[in-house]
Amino acid sequence: RLSGPEARAWLLAFADRISRGADDLTDLDRRAGDGDFGWNIDTSLGRARSALQDIDAVHPAEVFRTVSDTFLASGGTSGPLFGLWFGRVAHGPEAPWTVADMATVFDTATAAVQRLGGAQIGQKTMVDAMAPAVQALAGSAQPGWREALGEAAEAASAGADSTGGMVARKGRASYLGERAADVVDPGALSIAWFFASAADV
Ligand code: ADP
Ligand code: MG
Ligand code: MG
Repeated sequence: RLSGPEARAWLLAFADRISRGADDLTDLDRRAGDGDFGWNIDTSLGRARSALQDIDAVHPAEVFRTVSDTFLASGGTSGPLFGLWFGRVAHGPEAPWTVADMATVFDTATAAVQRLGGAQIGQKTMVDAMAPAVQALAGSAQPGWREALGEAAEAASAGADSTGGMVARKGRASYLGERAADVVDPGALSIAWFFASAADV
């Protein structure tokens, strides 16, 4: 089961990964949007890093709630969507999480993002990494969260890669159409890094 302190370590590892990659994410958003994505997400996770020091992190739910709050105030289209995603994940049990708990929370959270943003799979958004990760978790035969999240990370990474061949139908990247088709979506790449960061716990 995933404990609160493990969830906190996961989110801190994610914040570190985003810090290291913020310039690359911004570059992708410069090629297919307005060039603020890396700054938007890094700023929110910087706030999350401080906020996570101040909580007891008894359960994963508390950790995700704390991270969600730091996104809701942030700029860009991605801020409210990530805020909603983490916020729905935070509705999981107030106890350590099984793989089945994680499959449920990430499924509910991704459905909420799709409802708010209106993006379907294949439209070159963060959803293209979220949805395969959900599928991997739901279908995982792994009893341990490390192994199950490893499978989710592989699926999310393949999903993010696949956006580097899609014409965007949502967000600013859609204004560029075919001209930005080869650019990987930074939102999807960030979600791939999120699941991969569990391996650093
Ligand atoms: P903005 O375009 O307002 O500057 P950001 O740069 O913060 O927004 O975020 C861009 C990211 O938001 C994209 O990489 C994409 O993953 C995601 N995104 C944009 N629109 C949607 C949507 N309707 N549904 C899901 N994700 C979206
Ligand atoms: Mg942007
Ligand atoms: Mg912007």
